[in-house]
Amino acid sequence: MNLTNFRFETDADGIAVATWDMPGRSMNVITPEVMEELDRIVDKVVSDEAIKGCVVTSGKESFSGGADLTMLQGLRDLYVKLAKEKGEAVALQNFFDESRKLSLLYRKLETCGKPFAAAIHGVCLGGAFELSLACQYRVVSDDAATRVGLPEIKVGLFPGGGGTQRVARLMQTGDALQMMFKGEQVKPLPARNSGLVHAVVPRAELIQNAKDWLKANPQATQPWDQKGFKLPSNKVHSPAGMQIWPPANAIYRRETNDNYPAARAILSAVYEGLQLPIDLALKVESRYFAKILRTKEAASMIRSLFVSMQELNKGARRPADVPPSKLKKVGVVGAGFMGAGIAYVTALAGLEVVLVDRDIEAAEKGKAHSHKLVSDQIMKGRAKTADRDALLARIKASADYADLKGCDLIVEAVFEDPKVKAEVIAKVEAVVGPRTIFGSNTSTLPITGLAQSSQRPKNFIGIHFFSPVEKMLLVEVIMAKKTGKKALAMALDFVRAIRKTPIVVNDTRGFYANRCVGNYLREGHLMLMEGVPPAMIEAAGKQAGMPVGPLSLNDEVAIDLALKIVKATKAQLGDAAVDPQQEKLLVAMVETNGRLGRKNRKGFYDYPESGPKRLWPGLADLVGKRLDPDSVDMEELKQRLLVTQALEAAKTYEEGVVTDPREADVGSIIGFGFAPFTGGTLSYIDNMGAAAFVKLCERLAKKHGERFKPNRLLKRMARTGESFYATAEAKAA
Ligand code: NAD
Repeated sequence: MNLTNFRFETDADGIAVATWDMPGRSMNVITPEVMEELDRIVDKVVSDEAIKGCVVTSGKESFSGGADLTMLQGLRDLYVKLAKEKGEAVALQNFFDESRKLSLLYRKLETCGKPFAAAIHGVCLGGAFELSLACQYRVVSDDAATRVGLPEIKVGLFPGGGGTQRVARLMQTGDALQMMFKGEQVKPLPARNSGLVHAVVPRAELIQNAKDWLKANPQATQPWDQKGFKLPSNKVHSPAGMQIWPPANAIYRRETNDNYPAARAILSAVYEGLQLPIDLALKVESRYFAKILRTKEAASMIRSLFVSMQELNKGARRPADVPPSKLKKVGVVGAGFMGAGIAYVTALAGLEVVLVDRDIEAAEKGKAHSHKLVSDQIMKGRAKTADRDALLARIKASADYADLKGCDLIVEAVFEDPKVKAEVIAKVEAVVGPRTIFGSNTSTLPITGLAQSSQRPKNFIGIHFFSPVEKMLLVEVIMAKKTGKKALAMALDFVRAIRKTPIVVNDTRGFYANRCVGNYLREGHLMLMEGVPPAMIEAAGKQAGMPVGPLSLNDEVAIDLALKIVKATKAQLGDAAVDPQQEKLLVAMVETNGRLGRKNRKGFYDYPESGPKRLWPGLADLVGKRLDPDSVDMEELKQRLLVTQALEAAKTYEEGVVTDPREADVGSIIGFGFAPFTGGTLSYIDNMGAAAFVKLCERLAKKHGERFKPNRLLKRMARTGESFYATAEAKAA
């Protein structure tokens, strides 16, 4: 057989092994070519009498991450083109037929008359896991890296290659729904215990195990193709089913606020599909898949969370003419809350770290943070003691600046005080070489100002992390006026090495992310001062798609920090730059009532020693007025909370702080959780259309104040019909 993406061999017992190993790629993905070759493999297995069954496995370190999402994007584009040229009906039919091909191929494989077994090591996700679900037998390696799952929901999609139907016929319905809602990646043992896979064996035994099974089960058919098949959770319309579906609907609402069409489609496809024979059920699934693929949510999420994120990770903003940095040793100055986290992620990436603080105790305390984090990983079975030893050996805690000699990059995370920072810059520059790049992790001080203390402003840049460093994926890289391209390249190489996603922004107060999220907090504060019941504010935040309400978020980041920023803004930009109502609230919270947030267990919420947090009852007295909940327009609260952030993003774009819509969008989702289903701050505006967005801003401005007034850029876009993406793409072309 003439195959490019698979190797195909048959042994003396008549067991074929199809090894998926795409040339020139580190990971297998499902492409039209892979589908075509798999189709021929099935034909060969069926037609060759010598073949008794076939093992499907991978020649790579992992099985496969699933379908090529750009292929799915291509399908959408074709639909739009056909709809224009031949009308909606033709386009829809074509779209349905094309988007079903994978599902039909898998059904062909599982009903071809000869058995297939999937032998899985490493990740096996999405369309690839659906391939294995169509095999009559699945064996996975017991390796820590092995995972199976259907993560489609994370990019606004849902499993369209039979996943919703097969998983729901293998597992308890509730578990199946939860796994798909969360896009869970399941480890080997839980996968076996829940019925997703049949066996877990050492990696070296995978193929033999699969072959043995095929030899012993030449007539194997899928459970759902056997007479008398019973669903694991019984029929949908049965007393058992009634225990499942009403709560499933409620959980769906609670978890998604009905913002994710793909999640709703999973629920519907499983509910309807389980009442039908498998072929019809797969057709139902295909209809939902075609529908979901055409939603703006799927398009926006695929674009931001997959395509753009990958492009940024691969260095879309890196100056191409600077050779890759040979980054080996990184100095972290300031071993406090942030510095300790930065040292950990750097050492985790295999780089050497010198962690400097004012005294050795503080430096050692910072290093101890790494000890704790790896120990947690060991407890969870994700790391070994040897990993901890090796990681800690890479971190040198020190109080001596001279130890920074030989560092390729310094990340400074000392107190947020320009004087302290200036002193540190001078001390560092006195010991490091002229090529060392200096990155400041300041969150509020403009980088250009800090760079004035540097003898080498070309080497000076902002590298702004988010807390907690080990969890947050975003890093803002900030260009000061004189920052050179080598500094930018080094900063981006560093961010890539520690496996985070960079956005490159120009210097301004608050940079990009904190400006937008600051508006979210402010809107929550102002709503509170208007007398909106706090529980409604929090619910509006979540219903709008934010991970937490604005008051919760402020408790996490600390209310005194919010007050500090408001005061600094007022001191530097004048009284008009801050909202007096917001300032009044923050002063009352912090200075009058000593409520600093979660850190002192007293914020907008109370944090009792035991039991969940609850809104502080004293808020009512502090605010002094309370609107009748029935008079509050929930939709408008939601709009205010998203619009204020998106408008700020548009302003940063107009000012040239962010220069690429991809960065604004990706940064907003992974940096501060901006409603992911929208695709990010600027996609939110593009999807609504600038004209509609401007109209909405004007309505809100009339009712709630100048802060909602649209900027000039948006007004122009509303007039001309431009969008952020179309304009940026036209410019790039
Ligand atoms: P922190 O107070 O926890 O840590 C600061 C550390 O710097 C302390 O350990 C202190 O001993 C050390 N330090 C002070 N002067 C020093 C000197 N001259 N030499 C060496 N070490 C010195 O503060 P943090 O929250 O980690 O913040 C550090 C920086 O990171 C600040 O610029 C802050 O704005 C920024 N930042 C903080 C957050 C956050 O969420 N806390 C997020 C992003 C950025």
